[in-house]
Amino acid sequence: MSAPVNVAIVGAGPSGCYVADALGRKLPGARIDIFDRLPTPFGLVRGGVAPDHQGTKNISRQFERTLGKDGVRFLGNVAVGRDTSYEELKAAYDVLVITIGALDDRRLGIPGENLDGVYGSGRFVAWYNGIPDGRDLEPKLDGKSVAIIGNGNVALDIARLLGKTPDELATSDLCAHARAAFAAAQVEDIWLIGRRGPLDASFTTAELAEFGELSRVATLVDATALPDTIPDGMADERKKIAARNLEVLRGYAARGDPDDRPLRVHFVFNAAPLAIQGEGRASELLLEKTRVEHGDAVSGGESFSIPADTVISAIGYRSTPFPDLPFDATRGVVANSEGRVEAGVYTAGWCKRGPQGVVPANRADALAVADLIIADLAGGQPGCKPGGAQIDSLLAQRGARPVDFAGWQNINAAEVAAGQGRPREKLVRIEELLAAANFAQR
Ligand SMILES: Cc1cc2nc3c(=O)[nH]c(=O)nc-3n(C[C@H](O)[C@H](O)[C@H](O)COP(=O)(O)OP(=O)(O)OC[C@H]3O[C@@H](n4cnc5c(N)ncnc54)[C@H](O)[C@@H]3O)c2cc1C
Repeated sequence: MSAPVNVAIVGAGPSGCYVADALGRKLPGARIDIFDRLPTPFGLVRGGVAPDHQGTKNISRQFERTLGKDGVRFLGNVAVGRDTSYEELKAAYDVLVITIGALDDRRLGIPGENLDGVYGSGRFVAWYNGIPDGRDLEPKLDGKSVAIIGNGNVALDIARLLGKTPDELATSDLCAHARAAFAAAQVEDIWLIGRRGPLDASFTTAELAEFGELSRVATLVDATALPDTIPDGMADERKKIAARNLEVLRGYAARGDPDDRPLRVHFVFNAAPLAIQGEGRASELLLEKTRVEHGDAVSGGESFSIPADTVISAIGYRSTPFPDLPFDATRGVVANSEGRVEAGVYTAGWCKRGPQGVVPANRADALAVADLIIADLAGGQPGCKPGGAQIDSLLAQRGARPVDFAGWQNINAAEVAAGQGRPREKLVRIEELLAAANFAQR
């Protein structure tokens, strides 16, 4: 009988869990270690997906079953680049799969980006979703006007959470510190700004339509910004979504501004940010009108400004490489060819193809990389590296404190118990998470 294949997966988000599941099925007897820098698994399902969209988070039950399988170990609170290294993992495991996602905000690259009150959506979302390194952001929400730059679902998530009343957030797992900050906020206007037109927005219709159901929100759209027809040449699937979005936006435009609503969400299309202005703190966003030519937004030559005490950019993310990881700095992804990084090393998910696609979209990627691995192993010498024990002893020597699957289950139980009617009350400090992982009853 040949020795078991030792696999390390770096990143316990959806991609890492899908890869573990696929390899567990295709390589019976494989020993699979899944590392995550956080004490908690599930990546952006826990730390990105909006806290008021609990249905989307149900997928984590499936991932939980994967982490609990025989032959699979979860090693949370182990960051590659801090507690162990790429070279150490390559030396210990026959197969290494990098699934670290994409967490760094892309920058706007305009003057004023470093003013107080300006945030990238990655940091802002990490703050309200209780990712420990985002906890202390304490974003300024004390002004009347918030500008959100970007026309994707992340921009909609942020606007919706700011627009909901405390009652409308009652069934969410929005963290206590963010609930308090949102309840105290004095925001009256939220501007959702898209560089291109309404047909180019990557909103999904359900998320766009939710604004029509929020009790204190008026949705404002300039009817003249909405095209009468959808041009030929758009792919069928895209065309369907654009038509549905257009219908929702037309409904918003027709509703006008009911003056009994204290919070207005303005959809502003064909506007590119030029500068954020203010004395130390953001106060105004300068924009330029654009028109779309051959799919690109080009200057329309006319500028205008909107008040903006807080500016949040939601224009995409880049991966954060650790030392020695082959990295494509231009695209902000792990350097790879169809998922192969170098001999024995693979990648999948957002760090492979960039920050696009919903949770299930990562499954196909994971299955494809699992097939590559199986094909490559068939031509080589499986099971010849020492495996996880070698990394365990390095971690012990360095005083690292890995959280195993039982530890995560303890954290989960502690959070759910603290929820008191909510799905959970997240623990948001590393030390609190480690205490819950290690000292709850096992
Ligand atoms: C704000 C937001 C909202 C979203 N909402 C939805 C939604 O409603 N529905 C939907 O289907 N999709 C949604 N998505 C998309 C979805 O989250 C992604 O498709 C998915 O999470 C990508 O999975 P991934 O495993 O590639 O990356 P991630 O989920 O980012 O997982 C990567 C993991 O790697 C770990 N990691 C990173 N660096 C290291 C390191 N050095 N060492 C060890 N571990 C490391 C991270 O801690 C993380 O757990 C949303 C995304 C965002 C940003």
